[in-house]
This record gives sequence, structure tokens and C-alpha cells, in this order.
Amino acid sequence: MTVYLDSNATTQPLPEAIEAAREAMTSAWANPSSIHRPGQEARRRVELARQSVARLIGARPREIVFTSGGTESIDLAIRGALTAHALTRSAASPAPAKPPIIISTAIEHSAVRTLLDALSKRGEIELRLIPLLEGGVVDAEALPALIEDGRTALVNVQWANNETGAIHPIERIGAICRERRVPFHADGVQWVGKAPADVKTAPFDLLSFSAHKFHGPKGAGGVWVRHGARLSPVINGSQENGRRGGTENVPGIAGMGAAAAAQTEWLADPANPARIEALRDRLERGILKRVPEAVVNGPTSPGSRVCNTSNIAFPRLESEALLIAFSERGLSASAGPACSSGSLDPSPVLLAMGIPAEHAHGAIRFSLSRFTTEQEIESAIDTVVAAVDRLKKSMPTTQPVA
Ligand code: PLP
Repeated sequence: MTVYLDSNATTQPLPEAIEAAREAMTSAWANPSSIHRPGQEARRRVELARQSVARLIGARPREIVFTSGGTESIDLAIRGALTAHALTRSAASPAPAKPPIIISTAIEHSAVRTLLDALSKRGEIELRLIPLLEGGVVDAEALPALIEDGRTALVNVQWANNETGAIHPIERIGAICRERRVPFHADGVQWVGKAPADVKTAPFDLLSFSAHKFHGPKGAGGVWVRHGARLSPVINGSQENGRRGGTENVPGIAGMGAAAAAQTEWLADPANPARIEALRDRLERGILKRVPEAVVNGPTSPGSRVCNTSNIAFPRLESEALLIAFSERGLSASAGPACSSGSLDPSPVLLAMGIPAEHAHGAIRFSLSRFTTEQEIESAIDTVVAAVDRLKKSMPTTQPVA
């Protein structure tokens, strides 16, 4: 039996998403900016998708800016907010002495961390990091002291962590941002489409999402921009109301729209995400019972993680060796960025969370989806136990305890 438990890396596309993308390529392949009828057919696909995506997050369609996925959405939100801030700041004071401040965390996805590190190294921003609480959850109460009025261009915090599933206190963070009049961007890539979202009540100004994390195609995503929020384009052009230039990826957008419509329906029944959560908990219980030294990384109290994610440390084992052993037995999981890059370094996110290096070295992320079944979970538990037993016998002391 093959079992795919790597849905935070990407999800299996839904049949309706595949069909919508195929249909757009065969029946609506004209340029959506063209005035002729075929162009307008393509435009119709794009605008229908915009409505579906807006419905998924409780937004108005005109607040959605389509992009090429999560990474570009994050880039647009961060750079776009920074430029907009610089424009208003230079109007107020022509040569500010200090760079603008962006406040974020050490546990963001690398799409955020590499961009903020590069901007900071070039002196374009001062990067300030919000400390974390136990379990790697952002300490919202530490935020007010980091904000400098007039100089803070953006607060950027992920809604949920991609490695542990930890959910951050976005309501509190948003309330502080509102009070201090600082824009708030949430990286919602690991939230949108797998948990209910309503931007009418959520405290963001900008929210990023990515279609391939909710059973849509890769290379499509977007940013929700609250009406009135200031955002300058990064890619200039006339498309997307001047906020993101470039001919729209009509098949990708159509596929995303179909996936968004399906996920809206799926999320409307709380029993659906509850089923995934129960399977995730069953996986954890099954592994912890039969591998007593294994430890769950991240917060574990009810409701503290997104329903599909579990990060489990196997002390003294290497995640890469575990993943290979799993893969040989048909189980796909992941270790986060460290292993995917072929490095034996543990995940910087787990280390920033205060997880001991010994645990971070042998950390495995299991991420489920709506397609995951009970039989797959039982099979995955057996596979994990067999692989751990074999590795413990063959390399009990190869991993030094740091
Ligand atoms: N942000 C988070 C939290 C993610 O997990 C990912 C992808 O794993 C991204 C951003 C990047 O999204 P994309 O793969 O669509 O560029």
C-alpha cells in the first residue's frame, strides 16, 4: 500500500480542479485581456475563479490579487507594503535617518525568512523578531514593545506553521496592529482551504494563500488585500487592477477556483476537518504507543494545531534515514526544508522553537488531507514502527547527541 502523508508540501489535485484547468486550456485559451469574444471567455473563467476564491475566505472578489503561488504572494505583500510605507514616509519626512522596521518571527516559511533576511542585510529594513512561547507559538504580548510608531512598515506572521501546524494568536496580533495602526500580513498558505477562514472578522490587512495546498494546481495563488490597505505592485503591469502585471495563468486560476469551491463546501461540514484531526491523533497515538521515546514537536493542546499536521521527533535517529526507510515501504512524509535540500542540518524552524537538536535531527512531518483513510493511517503506523526498529538496530549510536 502506498500512503501519501506529505500534504503540507503539496496536495493531490481534486478531479474538478484538473477538469477546470483542462477546460480552460482547451476552450478558453485566449488572452483574458483581449476584447474579442474568446478573450472574454478566458476573462469569464478568471472572474468566476475570483468569486470562488473570495467565497472560500469570506472576501469580496475585487480584493483578491492572483499571483503565481504562495512565495510570490508573500513577496508582493511584504515588498508591496514596504514600498507603500516608504512612499507615505518620504512624503512626511524626505530623508528618514533609519530604515523602516518589519516585525516577523524566526519560524516563518523560508519564502518569508529569505526575503526578510535579504532586505535586512541590504539595510533596506530593520528586522525585529517576536519571541516565541512554549510549543513555538508567537508571544503576541511581546509585540507592542517592538513597534515603533511611524517607522514600522509591516507585521508579518504566519497563520499556521508549515512544520508543526502550530496556530498563532492572530486575533491578538491583529488587535495590537490595529491599535498601533500598523499593517498586518498573515502567511495563510497552510491555513486557507484546510480550515475555515473569514477575512470579514479576521484581523489582517493582507493574507497570502496558495492553490496547491488545497487541492488546486501548482503555480497559482493570491493575496487578499483589505479594502483601503496600501500595497504597491512588485511586478508592474495593467493586470489585476495594476497590482500584479503579467498575463493571468488562466488554467491555474480556473483550477484554483474549482478547488476553492470544493473546499468551501467541504469545510462547511465541521465533520470533515474533524475526521482529519481524528486520523492525525490516531497516527500520533499509534506511533507514540509503539515507539515510546518518540515526542510530538509543537503545541499539543486541543485546537492548538491545524487538523492535518503532526511533527514527531525520533530521538537519536536521522530524519533522512527514516524518510528513505519509509519511502522503501511506500510511505511518503517529509522532514521539512533540511532534508529536502540534502543537508543533515536540523530544521532552523524547530531549533528556533527551542526543540533540542537531538529531537530536531530526527523530526518527521506527517501531513494528511481529505483523501487520507483509516487504512492508510494504520499502514503508516506499521511502516513507521518497522522502519524505526530496523534503524535502531542498525545505527543505534551513529547520531551524536548534541
Ligand atoms: N508559506 C508557507 C507557510 C508554506 O508552507 C509554503 C509552502 O510550503 C509557502 C509559503 C510557499 O508556497 P508556494 O509553494 O505556493 O510558493
